[in-house]
Amino acid sequence: MFTLKPPKKEAEVRVKPKLEPKDGIWDVIIIGSGPAGFTAAIYTTRARLSTLLFAGSSWGGQLMTTTTVDNYPGFPEGILGPDLIANMKKQAERFGAKILYEDVVKVNLHVKPIRIFTEEKEYKAKSIIIATGATYRKLGLESESRLAAKGVSYCAVCDGYFFRDKRVVVVGGGDSALHDALFLSNLAKEVTIIHRRDKFRGEVYLQEQVFNNPKIKVVFDTIVIDIVGKDKVEGVKIKNVKTGEEGYIECEGVFIAIGHVPASDIFKDQIELRDSGHIKVKDFVKTSVPGVFAAGDVADYKYRQAVTAAAYGAMAAIEAEKYIRKNTYI
Ligand code: NAP
Repeated sequence: MFTLKPPKKEAEVRVKPKLEPKDGIWDVIIIGSGPAGFTAAIYTTRARLSTLLFAGSSWGGQLMTTTTVDNYPGFPEGILGPDLIANMKKQAERFGAKILYEDVVKVNLHVKPIRIFTEEKEYKAKSIIIATGATYRKLGLESESRLAAKGVSYCAVCDGYFFRDKRVVVVGGGDSALHDALFLSNLAKEVTIIHRRDKFRGEVYLQEQVFNNPKIKVVFDTIVIDIVGKDKVEGVKIKNVKTGEEGYIECEGVFIAIGHVPASDIFKDQIELRDSGHIKVKDFVKTSVPGVFAAGDVADYKYRQAVTAAAYGAMAAIEAEKYIRKNTYI
């Protein structure tokens, strides 16, 4: 009869990391330390590829500024964004990833091996995975940064739950703003969309749903000129861009959904980008340069969830491994 062996003690199952670069050339360099970057590192190290991950000077990505993450599978009680990232980092290190908390300032993707530069040093790799993420586009108001995570949010799916039966404002007129407003209408007491033009940019189907939703009010031709509140959001000051008339909306939450800015600047002259600045990929993670892969929000303009970023990270790592095994000439 088959019997299950008891699990080994934690110390025994740990892999002894022996993943040093050969002749100064890393198998894989990963740039970025969000879910895409760390997941890629977990996969490349488990494939026993020497892996160097540049986490950046302020590491961890968007999850570091999120409170409870309730939609990442495996954590039925939710997990704090920074704790989730810290766990991913530990897991990548466990299998032998080397992590440097430095910023990559320049790359040369068109030489073999690929060159990566920090302020101090040059690094070489057979393959790289770009997982630099994206940042939410901001309105640029002082009150916006002061009240961030105190009622100001850039992620309705992440934070909407905290605004059950409250009044919220959504700023923007694209798919994200419409999606956010619809999502929030299931939780909040009242949702007001404030858009700077007299037409939405988002999908007509979403617009119809918004216009037919009795909980959603739309204010066109209007911008937010200030977010009011000392320690938490109390309302927004608004201005009609056509008439110049100013007004005030009382609310407890402000969701800013005015697009994203992918962190692709240092790659822009060497790799194909979309007009939006996102890295162009085919087969999910392959960029225009062989051996260079992109994962997560720097390429994904659509889903932008921690769990999808992690999935792209896994795909990029699997493709990087295939590329390295095939191209043994380096
Ligand atoms: P987006 O399409 O770029 O829309 C950004 C919106 O914010 C626009 O309405 C824009 O106004 C407004 N805006 C930009 N800067 C602003 C500022 N400084 N002040 C006030 N308003 C400002 O961004 P997105 O909605 O995040 O969508 C990004 C991409 O993801 C799109 O390609 C979208 O189709 C895709 N997406 C798809 C789905 C889906 O389910 N299919 C869901 C979400 C996102 P203007 O209209 O005046 O330019």
